[in-house]
Amino acid sequence: MRDSRDRQLGMHRKITRRDFINGVAVTAGSSLLPPHLFAANTTDPEKSSDYYPPSLTGLRGSHPGSFDVAHSLRDGTFWESAGKPEDTGETYDLIIVGGGISGLAAAHFYRKAAGQNSRILILENHDDFGGHAKRNEFQAGKRTLIGYGGTYSIESPEPYSAVSKTVIEELGIDVKAFPQYLERNLYTTDGRGPKIFFDEQTFGTSKLVDDPYPFPGGETFDLAAAGPDAWNHFLAEAPIAEQARKDVARLCREKKDYLPQLNSDQKKDRLARISYAQFLTEIAGVHGDVIRLYQTVSQPLFGVGIEAIAALDASDTGYPGFDGMGLEAEGLSNERSYFFHFPDGNATIARLLLRKLIPQVVPGSSVTDIVTARANYAKLDEGSSPVRIRLSSTAVRVKHLGDVPTAKQVEVGYVRGGKLYTARAKNAILACWHVVIPYICDELPSKQKDALASAQKVPLLYTNVLLQNSSAFHKLGANSIYAPGGYHTHVDMDLPVSIGEYHCPRTPDDPVVIHMSKSPCKAGMPARDQHAAGRIELYGASFSRIERKIREQLAQILGPGGFDPARDIAAITVNRWPHGYAYEYSSLWDKFVLDGGETPCEVARKPLGRIAIANSDAGARAYTDEAINQAYRAIGEITKA
Ligand SMILES: Cc1cc2nc3c(=O)[nH]c(=O)nc-3n(C[C@H](O)[C@H](O)[C@H](O)COP(=O)(O)OP(=O)(O)OC[C@H]3O[C@@H](n4cnc5c(N)ncnc54)[C@H](O)[C@@H]3O)c2cc1C
Repeated sequence: MRDSRDRQLGMHRKITRRDFINGVAVTAGSSLLPPHLFAANTTDPEKSSDYYPPSLTGLRGSHPGSFDVAHSLRDGTFWESAGKPEDTGETYDLIIVGGGISGLAAAHFYRKAAGQNSRILILENHDDFGGHAKRNEFQAGKRTLIGYGGTYSIESPEPYSAVSKTVIEELGIDVKAFPQYLERNLYTTDGRGPKIFFDEQTFGTSKLVDDPYPFPGGETFDLAAAGPDAWNHFLAEAPIAEQARKDVARLCREKKDYLPQLNSDQKKDRLARISYAQFLTEIAGVHGDVIRLYQTVSQPLFGVGIEAIAALDASDTGYPGFDGMGLEAEGLSNERSYFFHFPDGNATIARLLLRKLIPQVVPGSSVTDIVTARANYAKLDEGSSPVRIRLSSTAVRVKHLGDVPTAKQVEVGYVRGGKLYTARAKNAILACWHVVIPYICDELPSKQKDALASAQKVPLLYTNVLLQNSSAFHKLGANSIYAPGGYHTHVDMDLPVSIGEYHCPRTPDDPVVIHMSKSPCKAGMPARDQHAAGRIELYGASFSRIERKIREQLAQILGPGGFDPARDIAAITVNRWPHGYAYEYSSLWDKFVLDGGETPCEVARKPLGRIAIANSDAGARAYTDEAINQAYRAIGEITKA
């Protein structure tokens, strides 16, 4: 049974994913081996002309080989077998741990403060730079299609700071120009719009229905909403109780004050203490089917369902139910106009930063030519360049050489290719995930280590699938699909963006990369426990298991539109992020202020001697502007000291 079902799904098909099982190349057809495999017999895999991580398919994001060293540090087994370190003899002005946007921005700020010839080494444990800002490329015949494997866009619920805006401008990105690259109506013609897929297991019947009110936070908010008939279609067809359908319409359209007896501050106080699910059932009085429908709608933004997010956060995000409540705005402005989406998301920001740091890596000179520019990984770590990036290198120890107050240097130990090395610098910036820092920087006080360890990240799965064409989406009138009961809760065509030489798929016959997202979590537990459970799930899931889920889900949703998973899926890249978004505090689950009056992230990011701490974790905000802001602060701490 399983075999014949697998054949129908196309599990036997030789797509590019077949070259990789759990990220490991197994067939002669594959041109690239993951670097940790090279490591045993080649010191510098990046020097190979066909080393090009963006085009790797299979299990990416935190790919196999990227986290084993860090996990052995966590488990206390690393130093038993570490062996004697080899001194590289290298001395830098600055060593940065973490090659995400925060680490790259830190290098940028340091050069501005200390001079362009400052010698900087960036250590990154993945086989690619950019951290969560991850580029995925696919080859469809002669055409290269680009997808985002992580950070999707320039956007933020808070206005970009002057520092972050300046960096965006220095990189040449004109955020206001975005509309000229967006072919706004390309995927909304012929009645195509947002849909909800009701699956049989959750809702008793399998049905695709117009989504009359796509919640903010999905990836495709800029696409025009569904047509005027969407409400009628939803009210007639959604396979939930009639009362629930009416409640959805009431909730989304009616401007009602559900707490008329309270003033604005009292309402906010109340909404901060209850979940959005509680608000919907206990205060707005909706039918239980509305909760089943919207249970997972918050996952892409919060990493948990509506039972674990505060009603006040739902209101700030623009979820329905609060329009008539008279809640006074609190300075948070959802700056929708400050938005830019490159085909590879904010990987373009990482690539633009890199072009400034090591110009010979990314050819070209403009923000349009960067989209199709092929990075030359062989140039990342060259002795002749003042800035060097060393990939597949996990920092394992950062310490002052001598007493902290008087030390003139720090020493950084790192593992690359299974071997332990050391290098020295005047200063170090830890732009890596905060949960890692207590294991690599023993000198920090224990209170700070506790605060760092509390920055448990939110796990996420961003899957990109290359399809031979998008005709099923076209036939079904869909451009984005919310699937409340699905393995992935969102299945979207990307925004139709064409920049420079890059042209998005134009017709339903063109090959297309679709984006699917999942937030692994376990409803009913406190948010942090849900994230921990999701992290374990992601580390434990094999590629073939996820592949089967993808094929089953796409067959279910798109099958009625003529989609055949065995025929139509050409490649799959699963970007797994067990350590995804920076943890943002919730009024439901967290004490915002610790004893002593500081927030956990303020305690966590304190500098020590010649070491300062960056990363978006340092601001407890999962946004690119925060990664940049924190890099700026950290560099200020070491350059002004
Ligand atoms: C799936 C996803 C989607 C997102 N979408 C958006 C979005 O649309 N817009 C937005 O503004 N933000 C988004 N974010 C938030 C994103 O995290 C930030 O925007 C930003 O990219 C974070 O940059 P960073 O440098 O702080 O962290 P990271 O990108 O995580 O970089 C830190 C790097 O340090 C490395 N590292 C850790 N430990 C070590 C070690 N011991 N040695 C060496 N290296 C180490 C890590 O592997 C990582 O590569 C998204 C995040 C995720 C996960």
